[in-house]
Amino acid sequence: MKYIFVTGGVVSSLGKGLTAGALGALLEMRGFSVRIQKFDPYLNVDPGTMSPFQHGEVYVLDDGAETDLDLGHYERFTSGSLSRANSLTSGKVYEAVIAKERRGDYLGKTVQVIPHVTNEIKERIHKGGEGVDVLITEIGGTTGDIEGLPFLEALRQFQLDLGRENVLFIHCTLVPYIKAAGELKTKPSQQSVAKLREIGIQPDILVCRTEHPITAEMRQKLSLYCNVPAKAVVECRDVEDSIYELPLALAGENLDELVIQRLSLPAKPRDLHIWEDVVRKLKHPSHQVRIGVVGKYIELQDAYKSVYESIIHGGIANDCGVEIVRIDSEDLEKHGINQLQGLDGILVPGGFGDRGIEGKIMAVRYARENRIPYYGLCLGMQVAVIEFARHVCSLADANSTEFDPNTKNPVIDIMEEQKKVTEKGGTMRLGAYECLLQPGSHAFAAYGTDHIMERHRHRFEFNGKYREQFEKAGLRIGGTNPKTGLVEIVEVIDHPWFVGVQYHPEFKSKPTKPHPLFAAFIKAALKGKKIRAA
Ligand code: GLN
Repeated sequence: MKYIFVTGGVVSSLGKGLTAGALGALLEMRGFSVRIQKFDPYLNVDPGTMSPFQHGEVYVLDDGAETDLDLGHYERFTSGSLSRANSLTSGKVYEAVIAKERRGDYLGKTVQVIPHVTNEIKERIHKGGEGVDVLITEIGGTTGDIEGLPFLEALRQFQLDLGRENVLFIHCTLVPYIKAAGELKTKPSQQSVAKLREIGIQPDILVCRTEHPITAEMRQKLSLYCNVPAKAVVECRDVEDSIYELPLALAGENLDELVIQRLSLPAKPRDLHIWEDVVRKLKHPSHQVRIGVVGKYIELQDAYKSVYESIIHGGIANDCGVEIVRIDSEDLEKHGINQLQGLDGILVPGGFGDRGIEGKIMAVRYARENRIPYYGLCLGMQVAVIEFARHVCSLADANSTEFDPNTKNPVIDIMEEQKKVTEKGGTMRLGAYECLLQPGSHAFAAYGTDHIMERHRHRFEFNGKYREQFEKAGLRIGGTNPKTGLVEIVEVIDHPWFVGVQYHPEFKSKPTKPHPLFAAFIKAALKGKKIRAA
């Protein structure tokens, strides 16, 4: 078992998570089982309660863990699925240490960062990697952050415990270009590596984010000052079109080979055809569609990360390029639905709170009435139910009790079961639940099976009380939870493709294995476009 740690220096947002993901992909292609995990130095116990403005998307795992969006990159780049054990924050570490102290586990000793906090972190590294050949752990934040110190100290000890031959350090850094001087600068990298060495960590590989090629001379300089062999200075330039080019770009720099040699891993020859295939389809698609995503956090790059990625995967499945048009639902409320014209498909993603809800309902109505393929995820399914209730079932003030607690027609409501969960302290239905699909539904056709597992993150549910009324009016129940009977999928029958799902399929799509519903949605969008053109 081998361990790789990925740290970052100089600035945040260097794409450390993507580097970790792409390295994972490369190592899988060389025949190893790989797991990737994230340690975040902030004090929140998990990112579940953080605002999208602070943190981007909350990524949900099968076991219901609410994690950093980098775990989404890890799952998309590698084949395994991750668990609660693969996401750690300082908050969680201290929570565990303090609980042990209160229980008396430390036998009256003074509880300290070294060894108690660092031991807790080291234990989590061992646990996170159980059962795989290689564990890659990304450390969030930037070297020099106060919060990060206990983690880095734990990593230093970890290498001492297991030996240099089993533990490798990759440091991601920025090599900025100063226009006035017309040159790349190595000083920030020198200083961030110096910070690491102060703690006792010597990086083995330097991954340099840069906008310009790194010359041989620069490589020598980075090598000399950072104490890394020149061949282990890896250039990481911005990829042209897609993050999925990164495995190929890093293979071009021999990153996998460097890791394999340094850790003496018994590797298969390199075979990258799976990723070459993905990139070819992304760069030279035969078709093209425009998909509108109507949400509340549209201006934020990362709030719907997995949704955007999954749409692109749906394109890959259909040899189809996708232009994603981001539409602010409040804009629709203010300026009307003109923006929706010319779209081949409309998607409403998940969300919380009532801001922008009426705009989303306008988008649903537009898609339904104009027979444009519609795909609703979680909240996007709930607004579809509300729209159908109001305009097809004539339930005038139909709403979700989340947005109007006094609605006369609570078509979306908190169910009895969920109230019990809420009383126990949990507030949401989280993680993987079963769903039984209705033969004849779009969902059944897409999945090609009648039994699926999908990830959830929500409080409110389709109100079963209205089920018959909806079905009579032309809303098909495409899938239900076989244990609770809760409605998981709704579909408008008199429509080319209109599917709302109570779960989050975007957490289970990979470029190498596009999610069936995203693939079906893009297929329907493409078909509609061709019909309109004819
Ligand atoms: N706010 C809705 C609920 O809690 C939808 C949640 C979501 O879209 N993730 O049920």
